[in-house]
Amino acid sequence: MISFNVPPSTGNEIKYIEQAVGNHKICGDGVFTRRDSEWIEERTGTAKCLLTTSCTHATELVALLAGIGPGDEVIMPSFTFCSTADAFVLRGGVPVFVDIRPDTMNLDETKIEDAITEKTKAIVPVHYAGVSCEMDAILDVAKRHELLVIEDAAQGMLATYKGKMLGTMGDFGCYSFHETKNYSMGEGGALLIRDGKYIEEAEIYREKGTNRSKFWRGQIDKYTWIDYGSSYLPSELNAAYLYAQLEQADVILADRLHSWNRYYENLTPLKEAGKLELPSVPSQCVHNGHMFYIKTADLKERTELIAYLLKNEICAVFHYVPLHTAPAGMKYGRFHGEDRYTTKESDRLVRLPMYYGLKEEEVDYISEKVKEFYR
Ligand SMILES: *Cc1c(COP(=O)(O)O)cnc(C)c1O
Repeated sequence: MISFNVPPSTGNEIKYIEQAVGNHKICGDGVFTRRDSEWIEERTGTAKCLLTTSCTHATELVALLAGIGPGDEVIMPSFTFCSTADAFVLRGGVPVFVDIRPDTMNLDETKIEDAITEKTKAIVPVHYAGVSCEMDAILDVAKRHELLVIEDAAQGMLATYKGKMLGTMGDFGCYSFHETKNYSMGEGGALLIRDGKYIEEAEIYREKGTNRSKFWRGQIDKYTWIDYGSSYLPSELNAAYLYAQLEQADVILADRLHSWNRYYENLTPLKEAGKLELPSVPSQCVHNGHMFYIKTADLKERTELIAYLLKNEICAVFHYVPLHTAPAGMKYGRFHGEDRYTTKESDRLVRLPMYYGLKEEEVDYISEKVKEFYR
């Protein structure tokens, strides 16, 4: 059976976890957490990276920093993972869903302005499959209406838009290091902060409302509870696992891009014959091989294709059920404008196996089975 996902591991994970144990500091904010954050800051150019327990929690931290309160509206796509919305709903915020573009499955930047009301606080572009949203247009709307831009870059690490790293262009960027993402620590994430003025407040919310981060740095001689907050810092054991991945980040990236390009090449004849659609990457975007998806004619064909692949020992999956059609989405959010593409395009999408270490022969075998299905 070819799995849909295998968590990445590059060889030094156990060694670094042992070092963390040997350091006698396995709680958060030790040596490995610092190494990870510094690596991300250096590589992406963000002002500050705070490691978190998940991308969901990084987004929750942003909701606190943005001061989201009851009735505040946050514009986002409906075609995304539920945590994009959850973080704001927890603060009483209202997700306002707008339609996506069919080519990238990303938020349609031309639909945002019309959804803005006097209650709108932020725009949340989700960089689907590590392909950037049209950030210039989004940042421009945000600037004109004084809104925050919060990038859900859970899938976007090391991908770029006009040469800029995803997660660094908005006021905040959120990464995921869940085992299904390009770089992993089991469960984990990071918050990227562009403007230094938010750093101190973010450190307090992340450390249960205390100024313990300052204490560890020796800036104060005792720490205390000064605001509300939660516990968003991951254990050193997880951070150690991630460090082994970051050291090999380019190797992982190249491996995924190799698989992605091979799928694309193998399946191009089917695309040219009009049988299916392949992902499209706008020229100003460089993606990171996070995902390889294809689009079938409709839901029925997708269901048959997934079953056919499963019969051939290949695990292919679909996602997301659009949030505005889910029970919580109906209860807490609303869709603005016409759902022209969100439901229709999400019904057609199938993700093929994609992970670090997927073999060339496996990519060829999977491609062959897709071709066989269409014969
Ligand atoms: C994976 C993912 C998340 C959630 O990440 P966690 O680290 O599991 O909380 C959020 N948004 C998107 C778009 C994702 O793909």
